[in-house]
Amino acid sequence: MVSRVIPVDPFDLVIFGGTGDLARRKILPGLFRRFCGGQMPPEARIIGAARSDMDDAGFRQMVAESIHEFGDKRHPHEDQLPAFLERVSYETVDATGDGGWTALKARLRPGTVRAFYFSVGPSLFGDLAERLRGFGLADDDSRVVVEKPFGHDLKSARALNATLARHFSEQQIYRIDHYLGKETVQNLMAVRFGNMLFEPLWNAQYVDHIQITVAETVGVGGRGGYYDKSGAMRDMVQNHLMQLLCLIAMEPPARFEPDSVRDEKLKVIRALDPVDWHHIVRGQYAPDGDTPGYRHDVEDPRSRTESFVALKCHVSNWRWAGTPFYLRTGKKLRARTSEIAVVFKDAPHSIFGADAGRHRNVLSIRLQPNEGITLGVTIKEPGPGGMRLVDVPLDMTFADALGPDVEDVPDAYERLIMDVIRGNQTLFMRGDEVEAAWAWTDPIIEGWIARNEVPKPYDVGSSGPDDSLMLMHKDGRKWREIRS
Ligand code: NAD
Repeated sequence: MVSRVIPVDPFDLVIFGGTGDLARRKILPGLFRRFCGGQMPPEARIIGAARSDMDDAGFRQMVAESIHEFGDKRHPHEDQLPAFLERVSYETVDATGDGGWTALKARLRPGTVRAFYFSVGPSLFGDLAERLRGFGLADDDSRVVVEKPFGHDLKSARALNATLARHFSEQQIYRIDHYLGKETVQNLMAVRFGNMLFEPLWNAQYVDHIQITVAETVGVGGRGGYYDKSGAMRDMVQNHLMQLLCLIAMEPPARFEPDSVRDEKLKVIRALDPVDWHHIVRGQYAPDGDTPGYRHDVEDPRSRTESFVALKCHVSNWRWAGTPFYLRTGKKLRARTSEIAVVFKDAPHSIFGADAGRHRNVLSIRLQPNEGITLGVTIKEPGPGGMRLVDVPLDMTFADALGPDVEDVPDAYERLIMDVIRGNQTLFMRGDEVEAAWAWTDPIIEGWIARNEVPKPYDVGSSGPDDSLMLMHKDGRKWREIRS
């Protein structure tokens, strides 16, 4: 199958924080892939802007090195790198002062789509927005892209939204949650709303429960200072896991258009019941022999920040009344995997008798690794020996179904940046969604503080604290195995 690449309009993309970690690891290699994929028109320009004193040649060298280090190793496209670098330049800019802004403006071309990527800490968003307007770099058609964390709680998220709203309309603001840019997440919507098969069963009558797991094998790495002030609830649940929950639970939008989709997601967040604190487990990875634990990694021997959360919640509406949603995320777990599992109910009566065992259909949507969707179905085990039943996966993994071109599928950041240029906000979070998500998570975090709660220790390489297994066990259910 040959994929159809539609080039975007010519653009000037300014990356504030262009020398930073995110730009080097994700944004710049991603843009190069889109260039090689034929999606970037020859007139596109990428301008790095940051505090570091650097010229165009220095920045190009940094971009080339980033692409070598973090780019697509299977398809390096070395021959295309010089042409890409010709489109790249750099301006030293001080986000909090006046230096560099006039020179940066001189690099922008009239009549071209302008996008400004704020790949800097959120404390600089206000300064950047003010200067973009003040120095006349941005107009009412320009777009700004902002990174997580979008606030620390409801109050700070509201303040950030208000700051951005002073300079830009909601239609100009693109809040990135890179989980939404993943191919499988969009395929989830295609599977749900493009087939007759699933939607009639997509409700409390047929679905027993839903599990969403985002497991990491890494610890806090060099981000200890930031992470310890945040924790798994703020860093993962409030954004990524809640966004996935919304896509699973939402009503069919009237159209696949930004506000239709985002209106439906918002309704889900607002329908979430407050979580009973008996239904939440917090964990922190413990030291194991020579392997240091969380507290060592964040250099605070008394830290009570969680590196793991598991919780059960309910979406209180007609579709989902009584169906639990189990969410779980953590660091230093057994394997790196992100999966949504829709576990259907048992057939109402087994004609094969008790010996046939219990068999359930599970729709598994895997975001990483090995992106793909499988549906577990029950069939007869082949051969003689009576009616023995087995579960087999109906595999909808893209690489198998769509052939080798699937390797050119853009990764999340690439896709989202191209959506910014196209002016398509469908896969970006709206301000009210972010605020509603904080309004749900804030009381959970406040409850931990009020109860002085200490996270439960768990072993590195495990599935999290035993209490998280109990959370399911008490309901007669069990988590799916964490495996890569
Ligand atoms: P970083 O510290 O590596 O880079 C920060 C960049 O901002 C640098 O280019 C620096 O020169 C620039 N900068 C800082 N102060 C400035 C000023 N006053 N004027 C102009 N430029 C200035 O940070 P990062 O890891 O690249 O993260 C950037 C943003 O993206 C943060 O908000 C972070 O939370 C978010 N984010 C990062 C990652 C990641 O994997 N690194 C993932 C998700 C979100």
